[in-house]
Amino acid sequence: MRQSQLLLNTLRESPGDAEAVSHQLLLRAGLIRQLAAGIYTYMPLGRRVLRKAEQIVREEMDRAGAQELLMPAMQPAELWEESGRYEVYGPELIRLKDRHGREFALGPTHEEVITSLVKQEISSYRRLPVTLYQIQTKYRDERRPRFGLLRGREFLMKDAYSFDPDWEGLDRSYWEMYHAYHRIFERCGLNFRAVEADAGAIGGEGGTHEFMALADIGEDTIATCTCCDYAANLEKAESGSNFKTVIGAGTEDLGQPEKFNTPAIKTIDQLVSSLGVRAAEIMKTVLFAVDGEPVAVVVRGDQEINELKVKSFLGAEMIEIADPESVQAWTGVQVGFIGPYGLTNISVLLDHSAAEMEHGIAGANELDYHYRQLVPSRDLTHSKVGDFRTVQEGEPCPRCADGTLKFYRGIEVGHVFKLGTKYSEKLGATFLDASGKAQTMIMGCYGIGVSRILSAVIEQNHDDNGIVWPLALVPYHVHLVPVSVKDEEQARLAEELYQRLQSKGVEVLLDDRDERAGVKFKDADLIGLPVRIVIGKDAAAGLVEYAERHSPRDKTSLSADDAVERIL
Ligand code: ATP
Ligand code: MG
Ligand code: MG
Ligand code: MG
Repeated sequence: MRQSQLLLNTLRESPGDAEAVSHQLLLRAGLIRQLAAGIYTYMPLGRRVLRKAEQIVREEMDRAGAQELLMPAMQPAELWEESGRYEVYGPELIRLKDRHGREFALGPTHEEVITSLVKQEISSYRRLPVTLYQIQTKYRDERRPRFGLLRGREFLMKDAYSFDPDWEGLDRSYWEMYHAYHRIFERCGLNFRAVEADAGAIGGEGGTHEFMALADIGEDTIATCTCCDYAANLEKAESGSNFKTVIGAGTEDLGQPEKFNTPAIKTIDQLVSSLGVRAAEIMKTVLFAVDGEPVAVVVRGDQEINELKVKSFLGAEMIEIADPESVQAWTGVQVGFIGPYGLTNISVLLDHSAAEMEHGIAGANELDYHYRQLVPSRDLTHSKVGDFRTVQEGEPCPRCADGTLKFYRGIEVGHVFKLGTKYSEKLGATFLDASGKAQTMIMGCYGIGVSRILSAVIEQNHDDNGIVWPLALVPYHVHLVPVSVKDEEQARLAEELYQRLQSKGVEVLLDDRDERAGVKFKDADLIGLPVRIVIGKDAAAGLVEYAERHSPRDKTSLSADDAVERIL
């Protein structure tokens, strides 16, 4: 590609509102342009990178035996009503109506569509297992779109869904994807960890792992063991006693009557009778931080509780934590507390058995347990997300006897879920087994934020001057930079190299612009192609200067032939 013709405008300054380095560099290197909050155009250079990421994902999905299809983004609301998610999904789901008033949603994910499709297409065990995937634009009206491609409202996702006749099959499909994800993120050059995660809003019965690219800007915190290979999202990380959801159920006022002037409550039954609500309802009263902002949702025991509404923040009273006094004043109101965990953990709360609750309450009733485990800073007014963790850095590892926990920030680039029968049951996706008996299909779902990968890669691969692309994702391999295109020798040699490299299948960007050398070099650093060949005053002698982006100071003077050889 000749740069004079490329639709590429680099920016010297980063736009004021771009906080994340990757967001700044994506804009400055002319890879993306914003249309609206969380909605971007991929410019020609950005599109090339995105295609490479897609291609890696596609190759590894295919290698794992998954089949590619492409489903519609526009999905009828009835499907979502069938699965029960139309309400639960809340404001993140973009809803629209057609001219006849029929309701639709723009797919944030495709469990409903794929399950109804497979239900139609597959009726016999002979056609199972099958794993299907697509690489497609997703829509989520994120509460806080930010950091460029990291949290968009329209973004590119690879989503795959496996259908198995039995649980052993699901296990195989799951680990197949898990290993494919390892290959994908390795090929993308990411420094990542697979961590145990919570099932969250998607729900499901089996295991789940998140793939976390390590980066300070990451919105998740992961705990890893210094000795064994234990690694978990902090949403999930087990504390030594492991009943965080119950600790989270407001034992401050339950467990420490002397401080809060409430009756001492030791068992789940006492709790239930003192409040006059059923256990499940108690657990729906939660105080949590959303996207890092502490927010309280208080549902009084005497209130009709609509689970779905609580889950989507609707109907529940939302109270900003104004002062610690106001928390103390919530006597008789169950105040749950899930810190940075956000909405998804409600389902975890609901999943807890009464026995676990009881165990938790008994534990949490130990004097000052709360302070030690949960609220290191007593002052909720100034609490930050970090203060709400149930697990602290340096704690003993829950898996092995030797290690302690270390925390990292991570960007969730991928997620694998064992869904089980959650969707197949609701939507009636059954098959006939070998004996002719109808059985429910067992599902898994597997997502990768393809566009988010770009941000994660840039977060991990940049320096003060710009992006330093890992080889697998480069927009072009080689940047040919004639210092002066007006110089005939330089122009001729540059053109010759351009043709030669391209004929060998090398992707070349030729900076044939009539610009000052300084401008060209700055742009080249910013765009970050791995190899730069500068064609300067030695062109007449057939010599060029060869440098690699990751060590720009090591410049070598080479003959044009040697330079080509080095690249191939
Ligand atoms: P997050 O916790 O960051 O909100 P999620 O858990 O809601 O992500 P999933 O439903 O697991 O996301 O979707 C699969 C993948 O899609 C995620 O692992 C992530 O890489 C990507 N993804 C999710 N939301 C966004 C977004 N708003 N912008 C870009 N990529 C996203
Ligand atoms: Mg999300
Ligand atoms: Mg997540
Ligand atoms: Mg996820």
